Amino acid sequence: MRAVAIKKGQNWAAGFQEMGTVRCEGCGEEFIIGHQSPFVDKWVADKQAHWLEKVLAEEHERDKKHPDRIELPS
Ligand SMILES: [Zn+2]
Repeated sequence: MRAVAIKKGQNWAAGFQEMGTVRCEGCGEEFIIGHQSPFVDKWVADKQAHWLEKVLAEEHERDKKHPDRIELPS
């Protein structure tokens, strides 16, 4: 697992670096994107932020609760 987003307030596994925050437009909940240390990449994090925004919006469309942790595509 190289990249993951966690709900604000959750704890990081060791070795992850915070890369940015994504706020869900549907409910205002915030997710923090983290990269595992050797794979830190700002450009990838920006793309993952856009991907995550869409995923969060889809979860509202499907009436699904956001998980505490979402694995991100690399
Ligand atoms: Zn939401």
